[in-house]
Amino acid sequence: MDLTFSDKETAFRDELRAWLSDNQPARRPAADAGDDAHFEWRRDWQRRLYDAGWAAPAWPTEYGGRGASQAESAIYYEELGRARVPVAANTLGILLGGPTLMVWGTPEQKERHLPPILSGEEIWCQGFSEPDAGSDLASLKTKAVKDGDEWVVTGQKVWTSGAQYSKWCMLVARTDSEVAKHKGLTYFLMDMEQEQVQVRPLRQITGEAEFNELFIEQARIPDANVVGGVGNGWKVALTTLMNERAGLGFALQIRLRQLLDDVIAHAGEKGLLEDALYADKIAELHIRCETIRLLAWKGLTDAERYGQPGPEGSLVKWLWSDTNQRATQLAADVIGPQALTSGTSWSYELMRSRGNTIEGGTTEVLKNIVAERVLGLPRLKVAA
Ligand SMILES: Cc1cc2nc3c(=O)[nH]c(=O)nc-3n(C[C@H](O)[C@H](O)[C@H](O)COP(=O)(O)OP(=O)(O)OC[C@H]3O[C@@H](n4cnc5c(N)ncnc54)[C@H](O)[C@@H]3O)c2cc1C
Repeated sequence: MDLTFSDKETAFRDELRAWLSDNQPARRPAADAGDDAHFEWRRDWQRRLYDAGWAAPAWPTEYGGRGASQAESAIYYEELGRARVPVAANTLGILLGGPTLMVWGTPEQKERHLPPILSGEEIWCQGFSEPDAGSDLASLKTKAVKDGDEWVVTGQKVWTSGAQYSKWCMLVARTDSEVAKHKGLTYFLMDMEQEQVQVRPLRQITGEAEFNELFIEQARIPDANVVGGVGNGWKVALTTLMNERAGLGFALQIRLRQLLDDVIAHAGEKGLLEDALYADKIAELHIRCETIRLLAWKGLTDAERYGQPGPEGSLVKWLWSDTNQRATQLAADVIGPQALTSGTSWSYELMRSRGNTIEGGTTEVLKNIVAERVLGLPRLKVAA
């Protein structure tokens, strides 16, 4: 693998860097300004990216992107991470919903939905997980029944990030209970603006309500909002899941690097770099950061070669989440009581990192994937 940028990639990076140095996000709202103010700040930033054609460079030009290659897309997220700008408000729409529609959507669905995803006018959320169906998504129970040219949906979703701001939900529901569980699912676009959909925010340990419970009681979805055909929901959902970490992974590993650099700077100021205990921990985290960076690029090379991300991506996510938790814990040790004081960015990082080993696939599930699909170990049989 050659990590040297081509002339085209260098030009892409330089153009983006120049734009980012001339265009900053609006001033970040105060920590206690509330979730809505932070969300609007991120939506404003997405609008600025959109106006300059930088909202989703990986999207094809016909849909408003730049047709960027996988390497350019990685550069894009690395540069956004390096510039420490906020995550765009409609990240789930850009990274998950849009690409899923590009593969499975009808021409009408693409024409209707892709432009407002990109501009951030219509926010999207992901209605997959349920109280008894997270890791084992295919066992979900939310039901959709055909009624004329509409579907009537009843059930409950949970951990639905950003649902309180969303116009559309990527909803997977059971449309046939008679067939094998993977085969009876259908993927819908559900309009969140109807009374039959109740959104209840769940407050996290950080104090913010990033995700929600969805209570769906006879919600109506027109047949035209089925994506990829009735009974084909599992395959469509896999497209969404495969896209989940493809781009953000690069931004996350840069943010981890910045966090570690900040910790090292603080440790230096406090003379802790001479302390063997701290020096040892920092050296280990440094090696982990480099390993994650190189594995992320290797994953990209594989994706370019084989046309899709491989199971090795699970290793990057597992290593990143574990390392981020260790780095934020070390930050608390280095910085002291201020890092445990509510409202500081250090306490936010420390507490938010607890969810890293759950979101986007738990560590146990990722370890199973690495064991079975990367190392070829026999499948674990769990007693009932
Ligand atoms: C910050 C955050 C944001 C999220 N946003 C969304 C969202 O927008 N939309 C959405 O649909 N979901 C979202 N989720 C949900 C997330 O995808 C699930 O939490 C995750 O898939 C785990 O499911 P679960 O919580 O039901 O746990 P379970 O699947 O019930 O797992 C419970 C425990 O059992 C372990 N376990 C389960 N199966 C196995 C196995 N086969 N082998 C070994 N151990 C196993 C797990 O590792 C875990 O420790 C979010 C979660 C978080 C933390």
